[in-house]
Amino acid sequence: MEFVLRCNVLKCRKELNVSAIVTTCSHVFCSDCANQCQLSGQRDGQQRTCPACDAQLPNHDDVAVTDLNPTEDYKTSVLSGLGPNIIMECAGRALSFWAYQSTTEIVYQEYLAKNLTDKFSTLNAQMDKVIHDANSEISNLRNKIQNMQVDQDTLRRRNKELAQAFREKSKKQMQTQELYDKLKRRSLLGQVQDAASDAVDHTVQASVISSRFVDRVGNQPQNQAQRPTPPLFQHQSASSMQHPGGVGVGGTNVGPQIDHPRRVENAWAGFSSQGSNPRKTK
Ligand SMILES: [Zn+2]
Ligand SMILES: [Zn+2]
Repeated sequence: MEFVLRCNVLKCRKELNVSAIVTTCSHVFCSDCANQCQLSGQRDGQQRTCPACDAQLPNHDDVAVTDLNPTEDYKTSVLSGLGPNIIMECAGRALSFWAYQSTTEIVYQEYLAKNLTDKFSTLNAQMDKVIHDANSEISNLRNKIQNMQVDQDTLRRRNKELAQAFREKSKKQMQTQELYDKLKRRSLLGQVQDAASDAVDHTVQASVISSRFVDRVGNQPQNQAQRPTPPLFQHQSASSMQHPGGVGVGGTNVGPQIDHPRRVENAWAGFSSQGSNPRKTK
C-alpha cells in the first residue's frame, strides 16, 4: 500500500491527492484547514502559527502550496538552473519531509493500533466474563432443572401412591358404609318387629280383657274406648300382620269384631305363634 499524505490536523486527516499546504516545520495541511488557520496568504504584520506544532512561521516561504501532481514542465523547470549542491540539498530536505510525515503516520497508526488492541482486550475480557457468567448460569439452571425433575418424579410417584391409597380407602369406606347400612337396616327392622309384637301383645290383652267384660256387662263400646292402643304401632302392627301364615285380620280390628270367646282364643293362638317368630330370628 502506497503511503498517502494526510492533513496533519488530527480532527481532519483528509487524504491529500491534488494539492497540499506545506510548512518549513515539516507539516502538511489541506486547503480548508490552512484557510481556517490563516496559513495561506500572508498578510502584513500577521504572525502565522503551525496548527500542528505551534511553530512560528514568519517568513514568506515558510508556507508553500505544493501541486501533488506536477506537470512535466514543472518537473523540468523547478530545479533547473540550480547548482548540483543546491539541487541535492533541496532533494534531501524534501526526502526528510517525506520521512518525517511517514514516521508520524506510522506512530499515529501504532498508537491507534495500541488503543484498539487495549479496547479489544478489554472487550475480550468482558466478553469472556459474560460468557463465563452465562455458562455458570446455564449450568446452575441445568442443575436446578435436574433437581426439579427429580422433585417432580418424586412428587409424581407420591401422588400415584396417594391416589392408590385413596382408592383403597374409598373402597374400604364404601364397604364399611354398606356394612353400616346393612346393620342399621337390621337394627331398624328388629325395632319395628319388637314394636309390632308389643303392639300385638297389647291389642290381644286388651281384647281378651274387653271380651271378658262384654261377657259380664254386655257394654262393648265403653270398654273399647278405654283400651289403650299406641297410634304409632297401628300401622306397624298392620304391616307385620301381613306375613304369610298370619291371622289376616288387622290388630286394631280384632277388638270390636270379637263376638265369641272361641274366636278370640283362635286369634290369640295365631298372634302368639306369629309374635314369637321375630324374637327367634334375633
Ligand atoms: Zn485538513
Ligand atoms: Zn509545524
